[in-house]
Amino acid sequence: MSQNAYDIQRAAVIGAGTMGRGIVMCLANAGVRVQWVDNNPQMLEQGMAAVAQTYAHSVRQGRIGEAEAAERRGRVESAANYSAIRDVDLVIEAVYENLELKQTIFRELDAVLKPSAILASNTSALNIDAIAAVTQRPAQVLGLHFFSPAHIMKLLEVVRAAKTAPAVLQAATALGERMGKVSVVAGNCQGFIGNRMLDTYVREARSMLLEGALPSEVDEAMQSFGFAMGPFRMFDVVGIDLGWHARELAGKGQDDPLVQVDNRLCELGRYGQKTGNGFYHYEPGSRQAEHDPEVDALVVGVSRGLGYERRAIGAPEILERCLLALVNEGAKILQEGIAESAHDIDLVYLNGYGFPAAQGGPMAWADAQGMAQIKKRLLALEKNRGEHWHPAGLIGRLAAEGGRLSQA
Ligand code: NAD
Repeated sequence: MSQNAYDIQRAAVIGAGTMGRGIVMCLANAGVRVQWVDNNPQMLEQGMAAVAQTYAHSVRQGRIGEAEAAERRGRVESAANYSAIRDVDLVIEAVYENLELKQTIFRELDAVLKPSAILASNTSALNIDAIAAVTQRPAQVLGLHFFSPAHIMKLLEVVRAAKTAPAVLQAATALGERMGKVSVVAGNCQGFIGNRMLDTYVREARSMLLEGALPSEVDEAMQSFGFAMGPFRMFDVVGIDLGWHARELAGKGQDDPLVQVDNRLCELGRYGQKTGNGFYHYEPGSRQAEHDPEVDALVVGVSRGLGYERRAIGAPEILERCLLALVNEGAKILQEGIAESAHDIDLVYLNGYGFPAAQGGPMAWADAQGMAQIKKRLLALEKNRGEHWHPAGLIGRLAAEGGRLSQA
């Protein structure tokens, strides 16, 4: 028995979409009984069927036995409303990415659930403090940011809001361990650790498309460094339409030059793997990304239309800009205390973003280059490309002291 006051034996998941399904299986696989709520009964029914199918598939693959599959399935039951889940120790919410909707749900859960219950959100980007603020138990509210598919991806960002109690973080991390996850505690900021760094990385990748590179050139450079996939292959897997719809819903960001290629692809119905075409072409039933000259023409057309004079961009520049964008943002995340250590940042990138294990993670890679060298390269980029490249204060300090990010 755990010593923690928040021992988690029973849980509930709200939302039976992509993430809810994976999260339910993570819990059931770890021996936790799960009650499942969705306001759309059809989604719940489909979710239950999808979970059963995944377990049946695991049995066919010989990964688990029939008895184990039956036990795991048996731990998951649907629940009609919040009163039915009043006694759970933890709720993980995974409904649409909308602050008002999540606040309404947290308000209702707070009113019904037992006082010791922990309330978690799987939001990718919303402010956990704003969600916690609508409850009477902000010390028991946190983010549990799973990665898709949740039952397969190893990484779990445990997001600490301003008032989250240490014992609650501890209980969440212990649960992460039971689920076989690599749990990393992150502070509450836009994108937490992983997506905040990713944002700077994809901005560089997109910018290089406009300046002269082609998607396959950027991807090949990153893959030759050892990334599981380059940024544009990643967009094809995630779905280019997600960002497109999000920008539309938010009513902002659509005019940003950096997303004009994405916008054009989506207007053509090229959402990525799921539609057979995105930045690449996919034969029916295949996940093999095939180079598509139509996309190259589209990229060239968009960038010329925006007034760019294209130039050849080689692999060294692609690597330099993508990696240093990760390093500089990672250093800011460290100096702000969003991440507790450089090692935690590396764990996020190795387990959630396909960073090459042989390089140790972006922070370990930067340490291997040496801080003086990193600072020099950032200053050169700042001079040529603008002040967003200004080196993080921590990098300047470590360069002066001969220090390392791993010891900061
Ligand atoms: P989804 O659209 O696949 O599923 C959302 C589900 O929520 C639907 O089944 C819907 O019926 C249900 N729902 C909506 N309103 C509800 C309510 N009031 N009560 C109960 N259920 C309700 O969404 P998703 O992709 O699973 O994303 C869920 C959350 O996870 C979002 O906050 C998203 O940002 C986050 N997230 C998504 C990913 C990803 O790759 N998809 C990764 C990490 C985090």
